[in-house]
Amino acid sequence: MEYALSPAMRALRARARAFAETVLYPLEIICDEQDGLPPELELAARQAAQASGFFAPNVPVADGGAGLSIFEQVMVEEGIGRATGMLWAVVWRPSNVLLQATPEQKQRYLHPWARGERRGCYAITEPGAGSDTSQLATTAQREGDGFRISGEKWFATGGDVASFFMVVAHVPDETGPRPTIFFVDRNAPGVRFAREPRFTHASVYGHPVVVFDDVRVSQDDILGDVGLGMELTRDWFREERLMIAARCLGAAERALELALAWAQERHASGRPLIEHQAIGGMLADSATELAAARALTYNVAWEIDQGLDIRTAHGKAAMVKLFASEMAGRVCDRAVQVLGGRGYMREHPVERLWRDTRVDRIWEGSSEIQRLIIARGLARRGVTTLTG
Ligand SMILES: Cc1cc2nc3c(=O)[nH]c(=O)nc-3n(C[C@H](O)[C@H](O)[C@H](O)COP(=O)(O)OP(=O)(O)OC[C@H]3O[C@@H](n4cnc5c(N)ncnc54)[C@H](O)[C@@H]3O)c2cc1C
Repeated sequence: MEYALSPAMRALRARARAFAETVLYPLEIICDEQDGLPPELELAARQAAQASGFFAPNVPVADGGAGLSIFEQVMVEEGIGRATGMLWAVVWRPSNVLLQATPEQKQRYLHPWARGERRGCYAITEPGAGSDTSQLATTAQREGDGFRISGEKWFATGGDVASFFMVVAHVPDETGPRPTIFFVDRNAPGVRFAREPRFTHASVYGHPVVVFDDVRVSQDDILGDVGLGMELTRDWFREERLMIAARCLGAAERALELALAWAQERHASGRPLIEHQAIGGMLADSATELAAARALTYNVAWEIDQGLDIRTAHGKAAMVKLFASEMAGRVCDRAVQVLGGRGYMREHPVERLWRDTRVDRIWEGSSEIQRLIIARGLARRGVTTLTG
């Protein structure tokens, strides 16, 4: 349990923060007002991200990515996580499950994604299956040497701009339904965009409802093997939960910096706000919780880079996501309170941070689900494994 924040890591985090401040912040109001960006602004931001050196941070250099360690990725995501409107997502982050793809699949899906040319969308959630993925109703029925996929996927982040989907569907066989990931091209006959709902946060990319109506795919469109769908998905969850935590650190830090600045500048009853204990106490609680979340996140990232076993890593990633997302919710909420009416104006970053960080307690497994994972880890491996 020891990591050192080297000058190189600090510099990387600062570089990501500078990217957020110079490239992403100027787009925030447009993104909030339009619930997205005009295509030319999205492209310009994405091209700036490609020039940053940390585009596709989780993809090995040999596959065209930045090839960063988990700790380095946390530095990057923390820096860019300061931006609102999900603008951090212009730094494309291909799903790590693609590392299990065949050379041909990598060439078709992973490499162009890492080059910023075409992206995919991970589609698991359905109207009847969110936290409980055993309820997935999308099926891939065998037909000849291929399959026919039918089902409806909700909340497909990036589905509005994706060229392809990674669809988790059940392949029925004599042992029961076997969850499997299939590549499905956006233009395949039977793929239909049902609707594009609006959400609490504004977002550079949408989360549409997509229907797959008897879509024909081949054996070569399977990622990994039949039945590996949930095992591969857990790899993605583990990585993404850490990165959500990292972005929560950045969001909370920005909210706290803005609240502190206001508390020092604004006077009430003859004194700066910060000298009133009620306000100073909120800032103190936020700083303490942010420091604790940061220490936990960095430590687990470091342990994973040192080769932490996968089951312990799964439990610890759940702890990190749970703690950091709940922390960010409290810190941003206090920041709104410290700013008073200004904190409730959509034009103010703390209002958007408050709105944006709400989803971090829901997606990639809600806080309740993270607690279930942690409790299961405790029961199987004891206290010290997860907390030591
Ligand atoms: C903006 C956004 C983007 C998303 N992006 C994607 C995406 O790209 N791809 C994708 O596949 N999905 C995506 N999701 C889906 C997301 O992962 C799910 O919303 C999430 O897993 C929760 O599932 P649910 O919404 O069906 O809620 P439910 O599973 O119905 O849960 C409802 C409530 O019940 C609680 N609950 C459920 N089960 C239990 C239990 N066993 N014990 C205690 N409490 C429980 C939950 O914590 C929650 O509070 C996205 C969601 C959002 C909002």
